[in-house]
Amino acid sequence: MDIPFVNLGLQYQGLRKQILDKFDELSKKGAYVLSSELREFEENFAQYCGTKFAIGVGNGSDALFFSMIALGIGKGDTVITAPNSFIATGWAIANTGAQPVFVDVMDDYNIDPDKIEAAITPQTKAIMPVHLTGRVADMGPIMEISQKHRLHVIEDAAQAVGASYKGQKAGSFGVTGCFSLHPLKNLHVHGDGGIITTNDESLYEHFMKIRNHGLKNRDECEFWGYNSRLDGIQAAIANIKLPHLDRWNQRYREIAVQYTETLADYVQVPTDQEYEIPVYHRYIIRHSRRDALHSHLAEHGIETKVNYPIPLHLQKATQLLGYQKGDFPNAEQQAATILSLPIYAELEDTQVDHVINSVRSFQG
Ligand SMILES: *Cc1c(COP(=O)(O)O)cnc(C)c1O
Repeated sequence: MDIPFVNLGLQYQGLRKQILDKFDELSKKGAYVLSSELREFEENFAQYCGTKFAIGVGNGSDALFFSMIALGIGKGDTVITAPNSFIATGWAIANTGAQPVFVDVMDDYNIDPDKIEAAITPQTKAIMPVHLTGRVADMGPIMEISQKHRLHVIEDAAQAVGASYKGQKAGSFGVTGCFSLHPLKNLHVHGDGGIITTNDESLYEHFMKIRNHGLKNRDECEFWGYNSRLDGIQAAIANIKLPHLDRWNQRYREIAVQYTETLADYVQVPTDQEYEIPVYHRYIIRHSRRDALHSHLAEHGIETKVNYPIPLHLQKATQLLGYQKGDFPNAEQQAATILSLPIYAELEDTQVDHVINSVRSFQG
């Protein structure tokens, strides 16, 4: 039995007719850029997240980048984030001219609120928690710290669409929530895409211009912005998919529960907090002989990945920040032992069982 790490074609099969009909309709009209489909998806997505506004952009990285430049963050400023995220988190901060400052993570792979205050300096402008693996960071204390020190909170919610913390959805805590619609995310389009959520009307209006060259209307440009909009066809696809998201996420959770219940005696498994509803974008186990486990699973036809093997502070791109091995022991220890198992809504019970039996048969 071969189990690929992702299988995007399966989701498409179920929605093929709707998507092709929509593609045909929009192509006949020529409605591609800043179309009514985009507006519709933005309204639906804001409502889904429980925010007033949402703005579709070219990708999740730009959602993060635009959030910071709209808040005036740039050279001379620092932004606190987690060192175990995807490259884009660090890139977005550095691309504004600001400097990322990393804070170690907890067992749940999210930033440790107890370690944030020690990293705050007069240069700090924002905290960027990353809701890694589809579990919301510990937002209670993070929001308290941000209020006490008057810092912005920008949520990197790229992996957490639909996840909640104490009944509140990811992307609705910070001044902005930043989502990716990349094909590997739980809600994805057929290419690149991103979306920003916010309750702040003036920021919303600013984002509408930033993504469109800084244009206030067709002819008047207020400032140099960017060209980074969510395409109309992608927005239409997202609109078709959004009503299915809760059902898909429920299946991710179901698989996660099965993995956790059956694997806890064999490998280290994640443990949910009772106040959270995770969406398990990634289901990550830990084992001291991770590479051997990876090979063992490959021999059983199971594709696994490491998200991510090199923490941000040890990347060549961040060399000038002066971090060293040993600076973030939890993130580093995790990077050496984590392994992501296949998890997606279309995974069948027999496949889940095969993954479970194969992990259990590993002679660690
Ligand atoms: C995917 C991802 C991003 C970037 O999204 P893109 O749409 O690929 O630009 C940012 N942060 C995290 C944590 C991600 O997983």
